[in-house]
Amino acid sequence: MSIVSGMQFACILVGLFVVAAIFSAHHTWWKVPKPWGKGWARVVLYHHICPTSPPSAMNTQPHSFERQIRWLKRRKAEFCTLSELVDRMNRQEEGRFVAITLDDGYVDNFTQAYRIVKKHGAKMTVFINPGIQDPGLLDVGQIQTMQQSGCVEFGAHTLTHPDLTRLDDVGARHEIDGSIRATEAMTGVPCTSFAYPFGRFGERDVRLAREAGMVCAVGIKSRIMPWSEVNPHAMPRIGTNGKVSLLQFCLAFSRGRHRL
Ligand SMILES: [Zn+2]
Repeated sequence: MSIVSGMQFACILVGLFVVAAIFSAHHTWWKVPKPWGKGWARVVLYHHICPTSPPSAMNTQPHSFERQIRWLKRRKAEFCTLSELVDRMNRQEEGRFVAITLDDGYVDNFTQAYRIVKKHGAKMTVFINPGIQDPGLLDVGQIQTMQQSGCVEFGAHTLTHPDLTRLDDVGARHEIDGSIRATEAMTGVPCTSFAYPFGRFGERDVRLAREAGMVCAVGIKSRIMPWSEVNPHAMPRIGTNGKVSLLQFCLAFSRGRHRL
């Protein structure tokens, strides 16, 4: 082998290494997959499911959302609402439980996500802020329609979506308790699940959620943990990103994150 062809060979090797490193930073194939079933469940986090906005961290387009649900069905997922999932895990039931959760209660959760969830016999949990009036958010009629379908659970997400860690005890309790009561007033059923706005919470907020009667409360830390180690009032969720490929979604679903 001449010096030139040797140099070329080295360049090709370096190039391949760089490409593999970049690919591996965005695809966690090298992480060990976590079990699913037998003490391990999955909770996935979404926000918007909107066809007219570009894919983003906050928006998964309906066709991607549906493709992910189809993939979960092929993997024999048992779709649960979040409080059903917690209940079934606490009873040590066996199954590949998955809870689809959507934060903030956007109208597209009714016009898009609900349609897809119903079509596939899935379930979802939507966390709402009853103290915010906005035409882009679910109205009472839409909430009641979904509630009565039996495939949607509504959880509380505070009244006005503050960073709870910046509130004093009275303010935090008002936001948490107020949103639970208001959610119950709209749905007509007990509200037992809660999501911390921005995924930000401290020990005080965990205590307030528990004292308010919540069966479970979720953050946004993208992790998969064995149920024996999960604090039901500080549950992690698998974060989705509307820009990910199905391969990246599968990696996130099995490893907790699709990238470094
Ligand atoms: Zn939120």
